[in-house]
Amino acid sequence: MMKIGILHGDDIGHEIVPAAVVIAKAAAGLHDVTIDWRPLSIGATALQTHGHTLPPETMEALKTLDGWILGPIGHRAYPKQPNAVNPHPILRKQFNLFANVRPTQSYPGIGCLHDNVDLVIVRENNEGFQPDRNMLLGNAEFRPNDEVTLSMRVITRTGSSRVARAAFELARQRRKHLTYVHKDTVFKLGCGMFVEECRKLAPEFPDVLLDDVIVDTMAMRLVRDPQSFDVIVTTNMFGDILSDEAAGLVGGLGMAPGLCIGDGDVAMAQATHGSAPDIAGKGIANPYAMIESTRMMFEWLGHSRANAGAVRMAQAMSRATTAALADEQARTGDIRGKGNTATFTQAILRNLSK
Ligand code: ATP
Repeated sequence: MMKIGILHGDDIGHEIVPAAVVIAKAAAGLHDVTIDWRPLSIGATALQTHGHTLPPETMEALKTLDGWILGPIGHRAYPKQPNAVNPHPILRKQFNLFANVRPTQSYPGIGCLHDNVDLVIVRENNEGFQPDRNMLLGNAEFRPNDEVTLSMRVITRTGSSRVARAAFELARQRRKHLTYVHKDTVFKLGCGMFVEECRKLAPEFPDVLLDDVIVDTMAMRLVRDPQSFDVIVTTNMFGDILSDEAAGLVGGLGMAPGLCIGDGDVAMAQATHGSAPDIAGKGIANPYAMIESTRMMFEWLGHSRANAGAVRMAQAMSRATTAALADEQARTGDIRGKGNTATFTQAILRNLSK
């Protein structure tokens, strides 16, 4: 039996996480997968009920789970107080979720800029430029005086090597092409170290074609010929920016799922998008990214726990989601549909099969 956490997050999280759970429960039922679901408090509601956006009870409970669904976090609206922290960098760090796997897939009829896009960006998750997670204590941004701000970027051999390995392994399961993205022409030491670690692994993966692209060129090539990429691996901030750009190619942020993984213990399903406060409560959020992130988690758990039922369950979710995306009446408005969160979710449920 797998133990899976349900953490709504904020704003549209209260709409799209329940959609993902209802579909996962139905798929699990069809494929005889037993799941112990554990709803846990996080975010603005947890601040009200537990006095903290990441309550210690939630942290303790997560340690006992196989994985969890984390809804988007609206931390920008949190009050400025010590117990109103942004939980997701803490979770990524605490559980050593160093690889953020973000696929981009085009579907017909939904307003993609290109057909036949099928790529995955593997973004380093725990170091780089992100000052909320690249230090043990203190903050990697500081302002010595009112004129000057310094931001520090952390690149380590271990951090680079392990995310590169995760990307090589993913490429091996896909079309066997890995592109590492950097700017070692300027960041000779930081990007240089990342590049060295990517190249060092190549002899272990002779079946994977390895090449590299400078990050600014990558931004352009993603727009012009995204079909020429399979798996892309890069450092934290480049990956964050490129994955939003990639989402823009295939219908926007509602189409951008993600899975945070690490050393093999747990997986966290977390869509790329934020909590979209502008559309929260209207029932129009696109649940695809959250549902697909959840599907990725079950596929990953199926392989890592040798649970064939979970793999079949993930395949069923994938077929049903693809079918529902083709239904203009059901899918949401952001992807040229006439439906809403509920109709899209119902269409996926209707299409679920053994
Ligand atoms: P963060 O910095 O927390 O990632 P963000 O600044 O990227 O947040 P989002 O909350 O992701 O902002 O929203 C950006 C835009 O995308 C908003 O207009 C929002 O409504 C839209 N959007 C995001 N997610 C979805 C979704 N699931 N369905 C439809 N629209 C969405």
